[in-house]
Amino acid sequence: MNVDKLKKLLYLEGRRGYKNDSVIGGFDRFVIDYINKVFEKGDEQLAYLFKDYGEKTPEERKVIIERALKILDDNEMAVIDEPSQTEIQKVKSLAGKNETRIKLSELFTPVQFVKGIGPELAKKLKKIGVETVYDFLYYFPKAYLDLRNIRKIFSLKNGETVLLKVKIISIQERKGKLNIFSVLGTDGTGYITATWFNQPYLKNIFKEGMEVFLFGKVQFAYGKWEMPSPEYEIPQDGKELVHTLRITPLYPLTEGLSQKILRNKTLNLIENVGKKIFDYLDEEIIKRRNLVSLDYAISNVHFPESFDALKKAKERIIFDELFGLQYILSKRKHVIEESDGYVFDVKEEYVSEFYKLLPFELTSDQKKVMGEILNDLKSSHPMNRLLHGDVGSGKTIVALFSMFISYKNGFQSAMMSPTEILAEQTYKTAESLFKGTPIRIALLTSSTKNSARKKILQGLINHDIDVIFGTHALIEEGVQFKKLGLVVVDEQHRFGVIQRSLLKDKAIIPHTLVMSATPIPRTLALTLYGDLDVSSIKELPKGRLPIITKVFYRNEDIAYKLVREELDKGHKAYVVCPLIEDSESLDAQSVETVFETLSQTHLKGYKIGKLHGGMSSIEKAEIMENFKNGDLQVLVSTTVVEVGVDVKDATVIVVEDADRFGLATLHQLRGRVGRSNLQSYCLLITRNPSKDAIERLNVLEKTNNGFEVAEYDLKLRGPGEILGKRQSGLPDFKLTTLIGETDMRILEMAREEAINLLKGKTKYDPEKLQEFHRLIQINYKEKIPFIEVA
Ligand code: ADP
Ligand code: MG
Repeated sequence: MNVDKLKKLLYLEGRRGYKNDSVIGGFDRFVIDYINKVFEKGDEQLAYLFKDYGEKTPEERKVIIERALKILDDNEMAVIDEPSQTEIQKVKSLAGKNETRIKLSELFTPVQFVKGIGPELAKKLKKIGVETVYDFLYYFPKAYLDLRNIRKIFSLKNGETVLLKVKIISIQERKGKLNIFSVLGTDGTGYITATWFNQPYLKNIFKEGMEVFLFGKVQFAYGKWEMPSPEYEIPQDGKELVHTLRITPLYPLTEGLSQKILRNKTLNLIENVGKKIFDYLDEEIIKRRNLVSLDYAISNVHFPESFDALKKAKERIIFDELFGLQYILSKRKHVIEESDGYVFDVKEEYVSEFYKLLPFELTSDQKKVMGEILNDLKSSHPMNRLLHGDVGSGKTIVALFSMFISYKNGFQSAMMSPTEILAEQTYKTAESLFKGTPIRIALLTSSTKNSARKKILQGLINHDIDVIFGTHALIEEGVQFKKLGLVVVDEQHRFGVIQRSLLKDKAIIPHTLVMSATPIPRTLALTLYGDLDVSSIKELPKGRLPIITKVFYRNEDIAYKLVREELDKGHKAYVVCPLIEDSESLDAQSVETVFETLSQTHLKGYKIGKLHGGMSSIEKAEIMENFKNGDLQVLVSTTVVEVGVDVKDATVIVVEDADRFGLATLHQLRGRVGRSNLQSYCLLITRNPSKDAIERLNVLEKTNNGFEVAEYDLKLRGPGEILGKRQSGLPDFKLTTLIGETDMRILEMAREEAINLLKGKTKYDPEKLQEFHRLIQINYKEKIPFIEVA
């Protein structure tokens, strides 16, 4: 009913030509008031639309009215009788009428409707990822210029980049193919000529006698000071300077967007919105952690009052980013810890029965971890554990042990691997380990034939299968279990948070074990796995010799000589190349070429095979089988062998064009050898390495320790890169890098505060808490489905 009334009003305004006069006293004022009084939900967005209605052109107004009509049609808005006082205040503040604070959660409206932006600029902003007012407020500078001090001309040194303030004495324009516009200026201590090319409109801007700021590089030539193409700003009475006499922000740009536009619009936005932001962080936390307020932080990240202020501002923003995520992770942990899980019986005899299946002695770390897992399995809550252990430390057997216990308790288990090769390998390991037991196992990947797949799906739902191995195919629709008690996710960093939750979403949360060889520093671990308990295997199986890693600069002859020696001892070798086939644009070795070359030169007479992602799964499986059983001695391959592949008597891995790979990948590749007590080698061949690459390769030469490699990698590339942003499940942090002391300190703070809040130790102001929850909803709802915000 109220919706209809409002609609009628909007139509009327339209019929009258969008003149803002369909209501006496102004359509815009009335409509904001009306929305506020009548609607409970969706009011912010709706009212916000009309914020600057009065100042728009009729065309722009038409767009606003149409949007409003659309919102009314789409929304089922709750209608209330009495408007609350706070609701009125809120909308009034949006209309700019008083000083009430603006909430961040109200700013997820299109940036286009902000005063002075409009559709054209909005399109360009979209290119830099700015779609909403919120995005714009959080589009932070990438660097700053210290333009607080004006230099005098008499003190200039050739080549310096400086800020000058000069009075224009004369102006000159030379027209021609190249339009040259120059002004001569003085600051009383000397003269300087500033010159711009092909910017004829400048003559409408600069006038003789005018004072201007010039910023740029100075040159001394033919006895005169010059400044080619400087940036300029002309001070205007009563207006704050934007670009000069301050610490000036430098934003990441795109075509059609200049620093000037971004600074001007951002400054405006800060004045009108940023400085009036409602701080959703509780006063108690702000005080305890000595943080600055949100409005101060936002203003100062963009236009810092000082470098100290900038530091405090950044700290606050980083705190916010980490606090939100830590809250989610802690909450998720809390939810799991509180939910019911399957209680497994972990009889001593089950354990000894499993030990009898083993072809080797377990390491004491493996035993310790198994103990931790058993404790989880017998408790009344779901296990939620990360098993962390460097490549080759023997995680698979721990997974199989957990599955064995699950089987003994009458439950099914599933283990998901990141690649088909790995799924197949684990399946085979299980097959030979469980031979002679009644455990029924199966393998499901995307290349499983339809008929077989149908049978497997039946088997899972009827509980004719006890343990299933597979890839992503396991989380596809249609896969249902009768009694899923345990989920294992191998090489977890390949999956990310989303899939982890997907698997868990089935009925009662099954016990979950995620395994990763990616050694990650504590900051990252807390961020990515803050919701998990962590176990780690630190030692390698007994008798393992450290892998010898060596970098070869072009002299691959020596490298392949070593390969031949290993092959002649009856061992096997991998040769890894960056490409499948030669490429015109990339100067790097390909599997095809290296295969051909090696067959005719260095490895003539040896049995060589090739393996890459372009082959069918059946071909790949066959090649792996041949390599394992010795029909092939050498495998020339792409990084499809990067993770997890386990062939015990492979003792040497050659990486061609090793400089093309990241540290983490190289460390993983190296993990393909050294999987028995034979001495193993990792030979890194590089031809035109950059300085960085040499440094990277040297790290590998120096250490076999995955943690050291990872620390170094994190410093070099940042967490997003290491984990692959999309897969990692890391949110899109604006300022948080997770590198260095500051982030570490803030992370610890944020984590403690998140736990304080969850445990009720912080008396959080209810209005603030509601806003905090809203922001989490908005920022994470698609990324982290597991959270339920109160
Ligand atoms: P990762 O932790 O990299 O997944 P795997 O589980 O593949 O390592 O184990 C690496 C190799 O070491 C495998 O061939 C496995 O059979 C073997 N292995 C595991 N544990 C032991 C052990 N305690 N003693 C000897 N070999 C072991
Ligand atoms: Mg593994």
